[in-house]
Amino acid sequence: MKITLDLPEYTVDPSDGHGDPYYDPGICAGCGSERAGVMVRLAPHGHLHATPPHEGEQSCLQKVVDGIAENALRFGPRAAWSSVAEHVAKYPSRHSASTIRAVITELLKR
Ligand SMILES: [Zn+2]
Repeated sequence: MKITLDLPEYTVDPSDGHGDPYYDPGICAGCGSERAGVMVRLAPHGHLHATPPHEGEQSCLQKVVDGIAENALRFGPRAAWSSVAEHVAKYPSRHSASTIRAVITELLKR
């Protein structure tokens, strides 16, 4: 089965805050450094860098997604489906009815 998650995405241009002492774009939930570039919101984790800090490295988003997959291996699929369900529940209008139904069905099976 394949489901597609819609991740709300936005871009932070650090030059917007140039010269503004109160500029605060917030921090990345993955690495804890300032939000910059393409960011995505993945509930319940938060705002994550979608692009790698350096070429050949993993983005903060990729690390979290890998972590969800790893949790599925370590703690069983329910842990992974719970993460997916929290995201879908936070942004229901961005997901199709069939995706929502599939996630609920998988959760109930576990
Ligand atoms: Zn980050």
